[in-house]
Amino acid sequence: MVLSVFALASASAGAVEAKKVDFGKLADGTPIEAVELSNAHGVSARIMNLGAILQSLKVPGSDGKAADVVLGYATPAEYLAKPQYFGASVGRYANRIRNGQFTIDGKQYQLARNDGPNALHGGKRGFDKAVWKIESVKSGEVASVTLSHVSPDGDEGYPGKLSVTAIYSLNDNNELRLEYRATTDKPTVLNITNHSYFNLAGEGNDDIMSQKLTIMADTYTPVDKTLIPTGERRNVAGTPFDFRQPVAIGERIRDGKDEQMQIGRGYDHNYVLRGPAGSVRPAVRLEDPHSGRVMELLTAAPGVQFYSGNFLDATVTGKSGHIYRQGDGLCLEPQVFPDSPNHPDFPSARLNPGQTYSNIIVYRFSTVRH
Ligand code: BGC
Repeated sequence: MVLSVFALASASAGAVEAKKVDFGKLADGTPIEAVELSNAHGVSARIMNLGAILQSLKVPGSDGKAADVVLGYATPAEYLAKPQYFGASVGRYANRIRNGQFTIDGKQYQLARNDGPNALHGGKRGFDKAVWKIESVKSGEVASVTLSHVSPDGDEGYPGKLSVTAIYSLNDNNELRLEYRATTDKPTVLNITNHSYFNLAGEGNDDIMSQKLTIMADTYTPVDKTLIPTGERRNVAGTPFDFRQPVAIGERIRDGKDEQMQIGRGYDHNYVLRGPAGSVRPAVRLEDPHSGRVMELLTAAPGVQFYSGNFLDATVTGKSGHIYRQGDGLCLEPQVFPDSPNHPDFPSARLNPGQTYSNIIVYRFSTVRH
């Protein structure tokens, strides 16, 4: 009797809930489901089976009030009609591949060129537009949802049948962890990441320019006019790309002298993260001085794409009725470097049969008072 009371008390102290809900329909009538993960500290995440998309992420500020810190749409159909990759699981290859071409073991592959001359974010119908299968939903000390997707051999021009899982989990320490895993039956290339646009003030509340960013990187990969890396790893010291100490994002974004800023219309660049890829290590810290919200991003990936929402052009309206304008959210996309298949000296994007691909991302939330 005493034992069971104790067991009950300890279960409720650290319990994190997971709940599956219906989440509307696509234009063709396909029903969409979502899973909501929520802990006792007011952090909650909603993940859709469409695109394994993080549709909402509510986090309290230093006043205790929660705000939704990711951009997105109110309905699943909008995610297909107006793709901005809000919160999406992007693949097979997130970011760009030059001319949509790469070679594996002497054989050349051609992908759709859906971004000027280049391939972007997995092609015309990438992982973000697929309806994934919800494999399991668990509550407990850590609540989680596991989603799976099978991409057939030749899908969007990529070789090999790829079996992918995305596992989102939330714990009692306000950490949302995301792991992508994949296996293949033929040698292939891949780069799966999450494309959430963050705004720690809350989506629709102001832009991100006063939020302070730290990136644990000494170099970044400059790009050509089509946003493909030139191959150089450039030192950030003395450039607007230096985020080794916290800097307000808007402070140097209008630096008209920096050619890389002109090309990207702001930040749209891959940073070479310090420390060994493959082990989860601190990569980025973002702080909103007004709300006190802080997000630390940890990852096992070798790089992170920092994109300051430059192409948000007031043509879409977000989930709470606000128009999204340039700089209203920023993406931090842990990944292998863009165009890696065409850069033998970049960390490899190749996966062979018998290997398991993994990309781990942890979003850790806390608050500070000023
Ligand atoms: C890319 C941007 C692109 C955006 C939306 C980001 O990952 O770096 O160049 O505009 O995704 O597709």
